[in-house]
Amino acid sequence: MIRNLLVDNGINPNTINLNYVQNSKIDQHSECLAEAKSPRILFTITKENIHIPKKNNFMNGSITIYPSFSGYEKTIRQAMCLHEISHIVLQHTNDNDILSTIISEQKNIPTSDIKKSKEWKQLIRIEEAEAEIVPATQCHIYADLLVTLRKNQFYPQCLFVNHYKKLKTISLYWNLIALLEKKQKINCEK
Ligand SMILES: [Zn+2]
Repeated sequence: MIRNLLVDNGINPNTINLNYVQNSKIDQHSECLAEAKSPRILFTITKENIHIPKKNNFMNGSITIYPSFSGYEKTIRQAMCLHEISHIVLQHTNDNDILSTIISEQKNIPTSDIKKSKEWKQLIRIEEAEAEIVPATQCHIYADLLVTLRKNQFYPQCLFVNHYKKLKTISLYWNLIALLEKKQKINCEK
């Protein structure tokens, strides 16, 4: 399932490590179902420039699946995988690494403090919504998968009812496009 979705989204599956967390290690992750990190270029930032090493500068991405993931039906699991893969497509890990490192370097603030700020939490909320809105606009199947996910799976303190309404609206647009295409086909056959 994950491999097919990666290929459908233009990602080489060999650049993504799949990790399955065992039941014995779930204490600190009990809320988490799955998470993703995009493949990234390793770099160091100083006040003057960004340095990218000439060799060994690439790190594979990853998708980590936690034990509670398997308790959901197939459609929900597919939608959750799509959400994680969208984080990879949208390069959120890279963006966040670069942004937090630059702020930390320029302002002399530890990245751990930056990530506790309300502005950072707002950025994460935007990225979480983006990981569903962008794929929903790609095709009808993705839109319906994500509508089903958010109808059944609450995302506390992050995605709210307005987000569900947006997904539902995108799905309705896809229905409308399908109806118009059907009507056009009938007219052409007359
Ligand atoms: Zn997410």
